[in-house]
Amino acid sequence: MSTAEKHHFQAEIQQVLDIVIHSLYQDREVFIRELISNAADACERLRFLQTSGQAVHQPEIQPAIAVGVDEKAGTITFTDTGVGMSRAELVDNLGTIAHSGTKAFLRGLQAAEQQSGNPDVKANLIGQFGVGFYSAFMAAKKVTVNTRSHLTDETGWRWISERAAGYEIEAAPDLPRGTSIVLDLKDDAKEFTKPATVEHIIKRYSNFIQFPIELDGKRINTVQAIWARNKSEIKPEEYQEFYHYVARSQEDPLMRLHFSADAPLSIQALLFVPAHNLESLGLARTESDVHLYCRKVLIQPRAKGLLPEWLRFVKGVVDSEDMPLNIGRETMQDTSLMQKLNQVLTGRFLKFLEEQATKDAVTYDKFYGEYGRFLKEGIVTDFGHRESLGRLLRFESSHTQPKQTTSLAEYVKRMPADQKEIFGLLAPNRESAETSPYFEVFRARKIEVLFFYDPWDEFVMEHLQTFDSKPLQLAEKAELDTGDTVRNEKALSDEQAKALAGWLKEKLGDRIHEVRVSHRLIESPAVVVDHDKYITASMRRIMKSLRKEEDAQAAGKQDLEINPAHAILIQLDNARQADPQLALQVAEQLLDNAFVAAGLLEDPRQMVNRMNALLTRILESKSV
Ligand code: ADP
Ligand code: MG
Repeated sequence: MSTAEKHHFQAEIQQVLDIVIHSLYQDREVFIRELISNAADACERLRFLQTSGQAVHQPEIQPAIAVGVDEKAGTITFTDTGVGMSRAELVDNLGTIAHSGTKAFLRGLQAAEQQSGNPDVKANLIGQFGVGFYSAFMAAKKVTVNTRSHLTDETGWRWISERAAGYEIEAAPDLPRGTSIVLDLKDDAKEFTKPATVEHIIKRYSNFIQFPIELDGKRINTVQAIWARNKSEIKPEEYQEFYHYVARSQEDPLMRLHFSADAPLSIQALLFVPAHNLESLGLARTESDVHLYCRKVLIQPRAKGLLPEWLRFVKGVVDSEDMPLNIGRETMQDTSLMQKLNQVLTGRFLKFLEEQATKDAVTYDKFYGEYGRFLKEGIVTDFGHRESLGRLLRFESSHTQPKQTTSLAEYVKRMPADQKEIFGLLAPNRESAETSPYFEVFRARKIEVLFFYDPWDEFVMEHLQTFDSKPLQLAEKAELDTGDTVRNEKALSDEQAKALAGWLKEKLGDRIHEVRVSHRLIESPAVVVDHDKYITASMRRIMKSLRKEEDAQAAGKQDLEINPAHAILIQLDNARQADPQLALQVAEQLLDNAFVAAGLLEDPRQMVNRMNALLTRILESKSV
């Protein structure tokens, strides 16, 4: 007579099971990685409990993992001597979706589906997020979990599922501490009963597990904390393999930093930068993937707070002897020790990036292409590291070739003695930057200006404020004039120009705040500028795109600057007596053109009508 109790799976689990079984077929060997990773987690947790002095059932049994295959029976079994599960834990952990791996997988899947039209994304996901325990059903028609909790007053339990709608739980006394998971393999999954195949897979994914793994009694992995070894003895392949393991990635990392320090904290760290920025692929926000160890005991996987948010793309491990073992995992995040670790690690990592930039510029450029945004995020959100982050920034400039960049430090070195500010021009690309009216004075006076193509650059500038004690200044706000670089005999005199400006203000007053004679224009007839020193054209564009019309209104009207040497202005000055109606149309058009150049024209309809009227006039005057 059976005492088994039947349970249903949560709806989300059904969903995960369907995805796992149907769409990830070609990657199904990862179920081995997932079950071994769970076994290792269980062992880590046991070791943690023991090191922090808690009593466990059967303390003499060392944490370890064993895999067994049986070709005849068609099974593969994963056994660990870890923490095991109580009855309630069996229900919670294997019957609901509260735990991390599978949840992250579902979230990633949603993100991947929003980024439509890329069928590879789903398959790649499996490498990025564990699909967890349920991946067992990729290969098994029936899964049996025998488990005995480490809690001394517990007993053993058996969990059985043939998928369908649910599972059964029955008592199973006399089990040793830990968990043993038996997979009755599907007919088309019998290759997982072959020792050579399984060994190969374990080596591939789980070689760096910090507990012995045996396959049919044969030791497979060499347990070694690679980060604690001497750098000079580690082969590049070993680093790569370790990276594949921590990052769950088949790619090689872009950069690697392996260092140890004694003061102010004792630290051994092995950190990697992945070749690609997953956030830019449209996946969900990356979560920190740096694991915290103390003397090779895992204290906290994916330790939050170990690195600042803007370094969330870094993967690896940090081992610090100064971590108290008996501290609760949950409270780790807030300890001042954690903050100290964070300070040391961040400082060291920034120094590493700076060294890398000079040592291997090609790699650094790649890094900057992938992760530049994270550095900028750091400048905006993290006051403490602003200066070092500023040294890592790279921009194209009027001095560099297209696609080549300069650092702020190099820019400063090139500054002539009388230049006090570092100039930057906001533009979507090089062409627009070079044809921008704001650029004219810089070109004429051969003053270098950085090109800011990323909308974030404006905020970066605002937060950085200075570099090497030189204020950062936007080109559109620069108080520069062309000086003697251009002269034009036909130019309007100062008086004429002022009078024309007055007339323009009178005619265009409802659209513009002030009209001024400009000293910075060469080719352009006119330009709009903000008189408020905190408002820029790109901020206005952002306000518009967010439909913050009230903000834009509150920001007030802009000023118009006119070029007294430009043919349009010279002719316009004549026309306002000779042909007032034409002069007015030209004035309106002049202003609209300036708005277009600044990317700020709201409604082109009036302008188009006016243009058509002007074209008609030109053609009529020619045909007379
Ligand atoms: P994750 O490992 O990301 O939490 P899984 O689906 O892999 O998600 O596992 C679900 C949960 O089941 C684990 O968090 C753990 O609590 C429990 N579990 C799975 N395998 C074992 C095991 N071998 N020993 C103890 N607990 C386990
Ligand atoms: Mg897992």
